Amino acid sequence: MKRLSAKDARTKDAQKKKKNDVREVAKAHSSLFFQFNSNLKPPYQLLLDTNFINMSIQMKLDIFKSSMECLLAKCVPCITDCVYGELEKLGTRHRLALRLAKDPRFQRLTCQHKGIYADDCIHSRVDAHRCYIVCTNDKDLKRRIRKVPGVPIMSVARGMFKVERVPEQIDKVPIKSNWGKDK
Ligand code: ZN
Repeated sequence: MKRLSAKDARTKDAQKKKKNDVREVAKAHSSLFFQFNSNLKPPYQLLLDTNFINMSIQMKLDIFKSSMECLLAKCVPCITDCVYGELEKLGTRHRLALRLAKDPRFQRLTCQHKGIYADDCIHSRVDAHRCYIVCTNDKDLKRRIRKVPGVPIMSVARGMFKVERVPEQIDKVPIKSNWGKDK
């Protein structure tokens, strides 16, 4: 009987440890990008595409609040001229998106290119300056962004935003060896 209770205590300890570990992971999360792409640090600059804005509205997700909850850090949503142009072209059915895009808390990025093809614009921007997190739910754009090292992708999931892809090297982050260091 004595042995059994000792085992019980150990199990409880293990559970407690597990809980702490989960918390550690959550804390480490928002600084993970920085280790492999030093351009990525809070406040994170989010490069939004048209579809991401519309999906957020559909899912009733506040872009500021949900991105912060996702990355545990302050985020600055950015809208390019061409994405803005796309929203304008969508017309009255998407006037909510357009009104949102006019929010002064959004950072407007000026485009120099011709036409309003936003996917090319977003791709070339992150390829040239890897300081953005690309926010999209578009399969084709995601596929293209995945080929650019160090650029995470955020997308709209059920009831929340999630970072679908973080830099490749993330698997090699020695999270485990950091655990317990400050204990
Ligand atoms: Zn553009």
